[in-house]
Amino acid sequence: MLKKKNYKFWFCTGSQDLYGDEVLQHVAEHAKEIVGALNDSGDLPYEVVWKPTLITNELIRKTFNEANGDEECAGVITWMHTFSPAKSWILGLQEFRKPLLHLHTQYNEEIPYDSIDMDFMNENQAAHGDREYGHIVSRMRIERKVVVGYWKDEVVRKKIAGWMRTAVGVIESSHIRVMRVADNMRNVAVTEGDKVEAQIKFGWEIDAYPVNEIAACVSDVTEAEVKALLDEYYSKYEILLEGRDPEEFKKHVAVQAKIEIGFERFLEEKGYQAIVTHFGDLGTLEQLPGLAIQRLMEKGYGFGAEGDWKVAAMVRLMKIMTEGMKDAKGTSMLEDYTYNMVRGKEGILEAHMLEICPTIAEGKISIKCQPLSMGNREDPARLVFTSKEGRGVATSLVDLGNRFRLIINEVNCKHVEKPMPKLPVATNFWEPLPDLYTGAEAWILAGGAHHTAFSYDLTAEQMGDWAAAMGIEAVYIDADTKIRDFKRDLMLGEVFFK
Ligand code: MN
Repeated sequence: MLKKKNYKFWFCTGSQDLYGDEVLQHVAEHAKEIVGALNDSGDLPYEVVWKPTLITNELIRKTFNEANGDEECAGVITWMHTFSPAKSWILGLQEFRKPLLHLHTQYNEEIPYDSIDMDFMNENQAAHGDREYGHIVSRMRIERKVVVGYWKDEVVRKKIAGWMRTAVGVIESSHIRVMRVADNMRNVAVTEGDKVEAQIKFGWEIDAYPVNEIAACVSDVTEAEVKALLDEYYSKYEILLEGRDPEEFKKHVAVQAKIEIGFERFLEEKGYQAIVTHFGDLGTLEQLPGLAIQRLMEKGYGFGAEGDWKVAAMVRLMKIMTEGMKDAKGTSMLEDYTYNMVRGKEGILEAHMLEICPTIAEGKISIKCQPLSMGNREDPARLVFTSKEGRGVATSLVDLGNRFRLIINEVNCKHVEKPMPKLPVATNFWEPLPDLYTGAEAWILAGGAHHTAFSYDLTAEQMGDWAAAMGIEAVYIDADTKIRDFKRDLMLGEVFFK
């Protein structure tokens, strides 16, 4: 499902012809060498493509427009090797519509003390040229990322790599289509929102389907297909019968296998990459989709519960942004359930009725069947597990009536102190930064939801850069958060985004 696209990033070097052809030849050689080294490093998730040096208004404009039109190009990396008069960039920048990175580097790492002369100064003046270029981008109020440092430095490469994932998130956002199976849960505010504005801002298409249309697709799944998937489940997961009859248990699991196949077929046929369900509106489905949804999330689909289409789209987006990452630890929808408020052991137990993505699991994953305390269907099968330790980022996109706000909270995931043998759902447990009290206070002041889109594999910086590219407000809750400053950030947002 989550097919890696062959995105590329163009590397455009700025210069001018004032210093003659030899200098321009060096500029091109140096840029090619940098591109080669970036690609050979293995640190970048996508390829960088060298482009001929940009020295005229016409070529700059043409190159940016070609980047706009090239479906494989997910963004442009710019670097001014020498001085490049920035008025030449105005038209090109004005017409450019994709993510922009300003790599502020230079060819030489060290000042060549013994040999430096004015020829060297003229040829190697990124410190000078990049300021001229940076000025025009700022003056034009164009959103871009600036990365500063030596191009052979691993830290710089990692920053470029992180930005590339954000850029792909920006490009892919407009390809996200969310299928709503039933409406939002009645009377719930925070899972609602302006779907037209979401399409304008993020490019998301959010469409509703009658639940029985997708249920009919589930009914059409053959017994042989269900049997094959059941075999996969039974070989992959531990079966926790807990006193239930094995055959009866298997029948419950088979219902989820049928839902997984039917739902995926329906989503594929209609071209959706994210889905919401609602436990109160299941039509002819025999169980609330639990295990089925968990498996779909694992395959890369976005999901939001109780009709929460914003979370569904965000989970999908974050899965795209982390796609193909080495040693990825996982991305899922989660819900804040209950606190541990014991001093020194604080944290939030994260779970949902059923639907947590197994990519975040640590260790073995088991199948359980248990009654739901909500809804009116038979006991749904679900995957249960606990999650990995480590840093992650929890996000909540809320609609404030006049705008969207993305709340970004860095969290520290931990193991719970003791097992919870009676809890029949997958869980995570985290302490929000800077601490539970400040983190939760800030989250509530910002209007954050109980549902979150969470990932171990993205940073607050990447999510904030995505929000900036979308032109929406982002607020950060992290180690530096102080409530007084945070309230001022919210106040500034009220003014700025009016
Ligand atoms: Mn929920």
